[in-house]
Amino acid sequence: MEKTVILKRGKEESLLRQHPWIFSGAILRINGNPEEGDIVTVYTNDKKFIARGHIQVGSIAVRVLTFKDEPIDYGFWKKRIATAYDMRRSIGIASRDDNDTFRLVHGEGDNLPGLVIDIYDDTAVMQAHSVGMHMSREIIADALKEVLGDRIKNIYYKSETTLPYKADLNQENGYIMGKSASNVATEYGLKFHIDWLRGQKTGFFIDQRENRALLEKFSKGRKLLNMFCYTGGFSIYALRGGAELVHSVDSSAKAIDLTNANVELNFPDDKRHAAYAEDAFDYLDKMGDNYDLIILDPPAFAKHRDSLRNALIGYRRLNAKAIEKIKPGGIIFTFSCSQAVSKENFRTAVFTAAAMAKRNVRILHQLTQPADHPVNIYHPEGEYLKGLVIYVE
Ligand code: SAH
Repeated sequence: MEKTVILKRGKEESLLRQHPWIFSGAILRINGNPEEGDIVTVYTNDKKFIARGHIQVGSIAVRVLTFKDEPIDYGFWKKRIATAYDMRRSIGIASRDDNDTFRLVHGEGDNLPGLVIDIYDDTAVMQAHSVGMHMSREIIADALKEVLGDRIKNIYYKSETTLPYKADLNQENGYIMGKSASNVATEYGLKFHIDWLRGQKTGFFIDQRENRALLEKFSKGRKLLNMFCYTGGFSIYALRGGAELVHSVDSSAKAIDLTNANVELNFPDDKRHAAYAEDAFDYLDKMGDNYDLIILDPPAFAKHRDSLRNALIGYRRLNAKAIEKIKPGGIIFTFSCSQAVSKENFRTAVFTAAAMAKRNVRILHQLTQPADHPVNIYHPEGEYLKGLVIYVE
């Protein structure tokens, strides 16, 4: 028996606009006893086909894979991954000699809700955020192998912390294919150790690539503070850009080790760089007013909508400290990666911080996520990274 979901009357409206989520409140009936992660076919109240997708327990009950009446089989996965790969090649990001680090699949942005695939040299790191993608991991890996061919030798599956806890899958991270001896990848000609075994996300924040490249252009002759440095990405671009001094700070000692290793990989024995394991707020309190380029790239302060108010207070405090202390004529790259914080919210937080510090501030650039993290136009929730480059008089 086909596993089906019947919607309440009128609840197909957002699906007609190709929004890929069906909330549990929109569902009238579920037939055929699907298990969590199964493929279900969705019908309107008057029995018209509307979509097919993965069913899951929770407020988002179905993640839509297709609005066409087509099977979700090997050919489907292959086509979707090939489309994603073609896009990245056509815009150049997957076809440059100086770059083998890019996001191949960005969930809803590539019409594959719940799936992330990042490429680091010849290793693909695959991450499932839904039970359905987890169940389909083998067939997806097969399709991935075929589409990328010789380009990848290893596939590492890293979903231990991204799958819904309640689904009780007890998934362990591990290689689905191959096993990499090296973990060095190249981004715009710079080398990075990527720690997909223990690192955050899939091991690296690929989403800051274009913003790091912009920072490089501002770095010449400046004294830089890279706050929340993690793998040291911004620091290494700044060193290449000719910064006079670069200080990297992160509360995690592991991040500091990683930053030092990455600096060493690109600029051995470079005396311009130093890294410190310290809390951001303590460091900003204690530091002098010697920096004239500061990066603030904190972790998501708001993981959910209910923590929005506190998150905004956090962004305001953080930015106020940096704006207060930066040298006249200094530049701040400030970011928020919380999906719950809108562009307007974030800008207001930085505006309030500027007003608190009583300095003249101009916005030079408004930044976002790069093209290999595309936003599905029907799913504006996919826009999560926001940044401002400000000039402080
Ligand atoms: N800018 C980085 C990504 C930053 S991720 C890049 O381009 O790759 C956020 C980092 O903030 C993490 O490495 C985490 O260890 C660090 N962090 C979290 N809370 C902190 C705090 N209170 N003080 C300093 N660092 C903190």
